[in-house]
Amino acid sequence: MYKIMTPGPTQVAENVRLARSLECTNPDLDEDFYDFYKETCELISSLLHTENETLILDGEGILGLEAACASLTEPGDEVLVLDNGVFGKGFGDFVSLYGGTPVLYTVDDKRPIDPELLETFLEEQVRRRKRNFKYATLVHCDTPSGMKNPIEKLCPLLKRYGILTVVDSVSAMFGEPVSVDEYKIDILCGGSQKAVSAPPGLTFVTISAAAREAMARRRTPIASFYANLQVFEGYYEKKWFPYTMPISDIYGLRAALENIRSDTGMLARHQRIGQACREAVRRAGLKLHLECGFSNTVTVFDVPGETTARKILDTMRSEHRIMLAGSFDTLAGQVIRIGHMGSNANETDMAETMEALEQTLRKLGVPMPESLSAVFRQELKQ
Ligand SMILES: *Cc1c(COP(=O)(O)O)cnc(C)c1O
Repeated sequence: MYKIMTPGPTQVAENVRLARSLECTNPDLDEDFYDFYKETCELISSLLHTENETLILDGEGILGLEAACASLTEPGDEVLVLDNGVFGKGFGDFVSLYGGTPVLYTVDDKRPIDPELLETFLEEQVRRRKRNFKYATLVHCDTPSGMKNPIEKLCPLLKRYGILTVVDSVSAMFGEPVSVDEYKIDILCGGSQKAVSAPPGLTFVTISAAAREAMARRRTPIASFYANLQVFEGYYEKKWFPYTMPISDIYGLRAALENIRSDTGMLARHQRIGQACREAVRRAGLKLHLECGFSNTVTVFDVPGETTARKILDTMRSEHRIMLAGSFDTLAGQVIRIGHMGSNANETDMAETMEALEQTLRKLGVPMPESLSAVFRQELKQ
């Protein structure tokens, strides 16, 4: 077994694993399960500070993103795709799949999206050229690079231009602050396997009244069943789910969410560990991949010239039983990612990881002016 210090999936606590082994009822027919499902959805809404309804869908994080696009996009719709990373750009594919026209707003992938520059773009495109963006897609933490975008500023700005907002916070929520109502997010997507710290398998979305209205006003039917957010309408009153719910996954998710509810220091801990990890990486002479906009859920550094990503990852696994992640798409082979989100964000596992990484890099001939693990421990004490 490895200690998984990856930016999702993350380590799963024992009480979550045990909850998944509880006896099962028939989730379609047992009315008590409808209460359990609804209460779990309400718990998610309350943890994300929203009055909006939450739905839990049976599929990984990607399903939530696709369901948001499938449910909002009609053929010919223009959709603004904010892109400074792999997931940012990826939203454009879902928009196209459902017949929409993605308009990419592509900016520097080493810095967060700047609200002022976006405002200039909106002023030009929406006010002058009368472009009609039905909604915009944004990524809170673009995990392959660790980029955190200021959704608290970007979403209210988009709403001022009459644009609905779809936010992928799969790898940020609960490690970074998210306040759905205050930020004016119409559809927010989350997943079970990142900071939530349950196994992969579930996605959940919060849906605003405005997003519901946009779905209700469609002229064409939603071109999907599984990715259709409208098929859940009235499930509780009707005691009818559109498909059989994965009951054990949801038992596990509930336990994981209750862990989050009782963990009042969670955000502060992410902040402290993220900060200490970045400082250690810098002072050890490694290069953080980004210039700014670091998410406290993952640290990404460039692979030093003396070695390769493969060698670092293999050595960490074979000699230290710790799993870190490389990256993919345009970043494949170029960076190493340390996932310190959710249950991974604890000082003991992180100190062990930094110590192992230091030994690994020294073994591979990477010079380090300061000790990665000593700086990390020092920073935590401050
Ligand atoms: C992990 C992740 C997802 C979900 O991807 P899966 O392949 O389903 O795990 C979506 N968005 C972001 C930003 C992610 O980090």
